[in-house]
Amino acid sequence: MTDKKCLACDRLIKGRSDKKFCDDSCRNNYNNRLYSYSLPVVRNINNILRKNRRILEELLASRKKKILVIERKKLVEKGFHFEYFTEQIHPDNKKEYYYCYDYGYRSIDNDRVAAIKDTRKVKDYSKH
Ligand SMILES: [Zn+2]
Repeated sequence: MTDKKCLACDRLIKGRSDKKFCDDSCRNNYNNRLYSYSLPVVRNINNILRKNRRILEELLASRKKKILVIERKKLVEKGFHFEYFTEQIHPDNKKEYYYCYDYGYRSIDNDRVAAIKDTRKVKDYSKH
């Protein structure tokens, strides 16, 4: 009998030689991982979100500022997609913040936004 490794966790599988996974939870992990990375719509949206984040990160890093007021159209020119974000929060019920991971912005007026870095404590999303 040849030793086979679980496709999800890499541990050796005991038992039938046609098994690919230790158990159902390994099978589910593997499929979820495969699915989320290979599904084009998921990948495309992740790319947009990552690009949004990168644009905000680079802007703030280049000016060495924690907050930066910038025209919406400047962001759009850089390839920013305002309709994609990971979180929408309004801590004081007035200002609305839109985050792309740990970078975000809030509206100043129709033409301008304030780009910011998220200073909140990082939440553990894995428990949701
Ligand atoms: Zn396994």
